Amino acid sequence: MSDESDLYFRQIAVGDMANLVYLVGSRSTREALVVDPAWSVDSLIDQAEQDGIKVVGALVTHYHQDHIGGSIFGMEIEGLERFMDRSPGPIHVQKLEAEGVAKVSGIPRSEFREHEGGDIIELGGIRVRLLHTPGHTPGSQCFLVEEAGQPSQLVSGDTLFLGSCGRVDLPGSDPEQMYESLNGTLRKLPDETLVFPGHLYSEEAQSTIGEQKETNPFLRVANLETFLQFMGA
Ligand SMILES: [Zn+2]
Repeated sequence: MSDESDLYFRQIAVGDMANLVYLVGSRSTREALVVDPAWSVDSLIDQAEQDGIKVVGALVTHYHQDHIGGSIFGMEIEGLERFMDRSPGPIHVQKLEAEGVAKVSGIPRSEFREHEGGDIIELGGIRVRLLHTPGHTPGSQCFLVEEAGQPSQLVSGDTLFLGSCGRVDLPGSDPEQMYESLNGTLRKLPDETLVFPGHLYSEEAQSTIGEQKETNPFLRVANLETFLQFMGA
């Protein structure tokens, strides 16, 4: 990334479940969105403020507690409730995920912007393209951060991890949809696209689509049948 870039981008490790969260925005407008504010929400907004950036909304990859807050394993994660206290702004949710996000987080749907796949949010010279990537959950989405003259960056949530992919044995999961999201949608992105996953389950915290196509077994299966066998479905 050259100094010409307008992109403001931070990857931050938070919480007890190896989550990676992101601040994505524009250096020229000094505004950013926070991806999946669940753990340590104050520290995320404080980090942006220290950088001179105002958090103007949240992007939600999917409705699991470690991404939006709520109660899990007897633990309370502050999540979107704390986000709304600190920094009221629209919460961008895939429309198929809205009901689940409301139920788990306790935030009413009226606070959401409900999106279709392909929607774009603009911040200065930065475009955040919302990719609908069902499989882990019905309304899982990835965020493709685009800027003219720069390689795009994919914030991949629990759809694509480095060397693996999200679970498909949970309520609402669908292994066939996961196959299509990985091999239909994400595999078609240009090789130089940078990949930033929702959990640090690998040694490295970032990769590229090209590298994942070569090394990630879930992007290398020949067809749906093999994928389903591989997933034990
Ligand atoms: Zn998840």
